[in-house]
Amino acid sequence: MKSLLGGKGANLAEMTRIRLPVPAGFTISTEVCTYFYDHKRTYPPALDKQIDEAIHKMEIAMGKKFGDVKDPLLVAVRSGARDSMPGMMDTILNLGLNDQTVRALAERSKNERFAYDCYRRFLQMYGDVVMGVQKRPGEEHEPFEVVIEELKKELFPKDPHVSDTKLDATALRTLTDRFRKLIRERTGQDFPENPREQLRGAVGAVFGSWNNERAIIYRRKYNIPHEWGTAVNVQAMVFGNTGNDSGSGVSFTRDPATGEKILYGEFLLNAQGEDVVAGVRTPEPVLRLQVEMPEVYRQLQDVRHTLESHFHDMQDFEFTVEQGRLFMLQTRNGKRTGFAAVRIAVEMVKEKLISPDDAIRRIPADSLSQLLAPVFDASARKTTQVIARGLPAGPGAASGKIYFSANEAEAAAQRGEKVLLVRVETSPEDIRGMLAAEGILTARGGVSSHAALVARQMGKVCVCGASELQIDYSTNTLHVRGQNFRKGDFLSIDGTTGEIFPGEVKTSPSDVVRVLIDKDLTPAESPIYRVFAQLMQWADQRRTMDVRANADQPDQVGHAVAFGAQGVGLCRTEHMFFEGDRIDHVREMILAENADERGKALAKLLPAQRSDFAGIFKALKGLPATIRFLDPPLHEFIPHDEASQRDLAEKLSISVDRVARRVKELHEFNPMLGHRGCRLGIVYPEISEMQARAVFEAAAEVQAAGIKVRPEIMIPLVGFPKELELQIEVVHQVAARVQKERNVKLSYLVGTMIEIPRACVVADEIAKSAQFFSFGTNDLTQTTLGMSRDDAGSFLPRYQEEEIVRQNPFAVLDQGGVGKLMETAVKLGRATRKDIKLGICGEHGGEPDSVKFCHQLGLAYVSCSPFRLPIARLAAAQAALKN
Ligand code: PEP
Ligand code: MG
Repeated sequence: MKSLLGGKGANLAEMTRIRLPVPAGFTISTEVCTYFYDHKRTYPPALDKQIDEAIHKMEIAMGKKFGDVKDPLLVAVRSGARDSMPGMMDTILNLGLNDQTVRALAERSKNERFAYDCYRRFLQMYGDVVMGVQKRPGEEHEPFEVVIEELKKELFPKDPHVSDTKLDATALRTLTDRFRKLIRERTGQDFPENPREQLRGAVGAVFGSWNNERAIIYRRKYNIPHEWGTAVNVQAMVFGNTGNDSGSGVSFTRDPATGEKILYGEFLLNAQGEDVVAGVRTPEPVLRLQVEMPEVYRQLQDVRHTLESHFHDMQDFEFTVEQGRLFMLQTRNGKRTGFAAVRIAVEMVKEKLISPDDAIRRIPADSLSQLLAPVFDASARKTTQVIARGLPAGPGAASGKIYFSANEAEAAAQRGEKVLLVRVETSPEDIRGMLAAEGILTARGGVSSHAALVARQMGKVCVCGASELQIDYSTNTLHVRGQNFRKGDFLSIDGTTGEIFPGEVKTSPSDVVRVLIDKDLTPAESPIYRVFAQLMQWADQRRTMDVRANADQPDQVGHAVAFGAQGVGLCRTEHMFFEGDRIDHVREMILAENADERGKALAKLLPAQRSDFAGIFKALKGLPATIRFLDPPLHEFIPHDEASQRDLAEKLSISVDRVARRVKELHEFNPMLGHRGCRLGIVYPEISEMQARAVFEAAAEVQAAGIKVRPEIMIPLVGFPKELELQIEVVHQVAARVQKERNVKLSYLVGTMIEIPRACVVADEIAKSAQFFSFGTNDLTQTTLGMSRDDAGSFLPRYQEEEIVRQNPFAVLDQGGVGKLMETAVKLGRATRKDIKLGICGEHGGEPDSVKFCHQLGLAYVSCSPFRLPIARLAAAQAALKN
């Protein structure tokens, strides 16, 4: 249904079926949108007639006639794609009004002011959306807003900033005249009086808005296919702006920020729905209805239960109260934060609304990153004074330099700055700036404004409706309670409490991190930790793939185990050398001119490596550890400037010339494809010998202490079977020696990384000696695509815009290319060695779609950075449920 009627259309039909009060209407299907774009923006021949018939049915249901000069039927025309795209496409309300029907509306409602208010809103929307009257380059404000401001100046010269409600019927009528004049001036065309013509224009504009820039950016970000198209919903208008017994609201069946089970949302008395979502007036909490309209409030509570028991999910719904009568205008699955997603899913299982499988399926695995995100350090925040408060709209702590326009925020973020986007109110046009910012702060708007919805969905920290902020775009300054902040100054915002702080406030770890890592919080003290742990338990029961961590140090390994790692999938041994004086020993080794010198340097490295490996084995308590032999692009380890070279020469008691000469000799134009990986161990086997010795001596030591040890030695960057054979020989020889010396028996595996296309296509040969494969998809991506993983950032954004690639292939696995090579390697590897152990340790191992692909390939495990482990666990469970 959704693919045909769009999300909104399908749910309106559902709500009608379950007897919720929905105004009459019909939906023009997405097929018409496809036709529209396939046929030079024209419609199927049958459409006009079908619309006429549908309008006729609406007229009967509502007892009013379209275009009637006594009791006109007015309609709303709204977009509705298969997946909701909040605020990205266009909407037109009060359609059917013209100079005649407005008078009828005034008479019927006995409220002239209301009628002209509807009319001027319609003109404004129609002029903007259908006729294209929008601000031109260089104009600061929307032209219709300028006309309103001018009129206010004329009428209230002493107080030109009065609210719109101060404009009486006469003023509003003047406004409608001026709006029509503005439309004529700007477009050379008259505003169409004929309601059918208005409807045709509006339908075309809604279809057209499927391809506006912000909708395209949104689809790209959320992977919504461009082919889907939108439906158009035409629905009888009901009015929330007929007086103080009317109003409009947006509510959620549970709190979308925290997941708490309460009716949550906002309501504006005497207003149309657009006023609530557009964030122009700051609405009141919906709970106030308990006092102001108790009967409506009671009905809303019923609606809330009906919706959840029908849709089995948290709903985000719009409603209007017209003269005390409740109407439902829309419902959809509510967007929510990661916190809310987990809490709602887990609690709905407990309430028997959904099953644990449903809970797992519905939580976007990526959203778990929010549960691990930092919050402001409690002591730092105590000493920092709150300068203002807004509404908490997207949880988490963010601080950054403030910028007042989306463009500047985007540019600053590209320069590498941490950015807060600060706006009076944000509109969907700001999406690029929002994407770039750490957090978003607005002076106006409510928690269900589009800005807040979109921010939450992006997982951005967001505080909105901080009405004390005085923002001046012309001087790029923010004034609040006597303090001034300029563009580029630091501010900090807390999207969980709504507080705003001056400067950069220190952040501290989340509850989950505190319980699992810092251990200064107990599960009993943290409800969010408890629902997180429940979800992880369900996920672990269902997934068939193991998860391992990429970790290089004992403390990192400890964290990884706390986050659920079932082993280390990649220990990059070169990372162990960055600390203290180890770097000097590595440099000595690199600069050595013969085996003897190298031997001396290696002897100094051995104890350091041994103790690190021992620490890792102990932290793993019997879980396997894949230890990769040295894979350093050598240039990263040697000093390039003269002063550092002099320093090093002194430390090593050799001449500066010699250092400089070796540095020159070692220089490589493309070190990523240079003398790294197993190539190093092949040319200098003594390096591999030292590493093997460190591993086995550590293993012997830890095993002697009664802890099981499972080393898996991994040779990097193999392309030729012989490379691996030579290195394996070294490993076996050293293993035999150490076992003899220590009189122990050690069990271990030796395998290889698969990160070169050649390795994939000769995987059957390589599997003769490899006991396991681990896909190094970082290098496999760079070598398959011929794109340097260090430099691709300069052109990849354009590639995404042109849709040459959908996503950054270094983040999301290129299944069509790199994935094919992996498939080949898996098939060939298994042909030689049926039970070969397969895993992945490139960055893709923590990315949900890539994890699912790995599951389909039948890999035994994915390995990723510790903080992404919960994401990988959930994604692996989702993949398992799919089958
Ligand atoms: C890889 O190439 O995918 C990999 C894990 O190794 P590194 O990132 O260290 O090159
Ligand atoms: Mg690699």
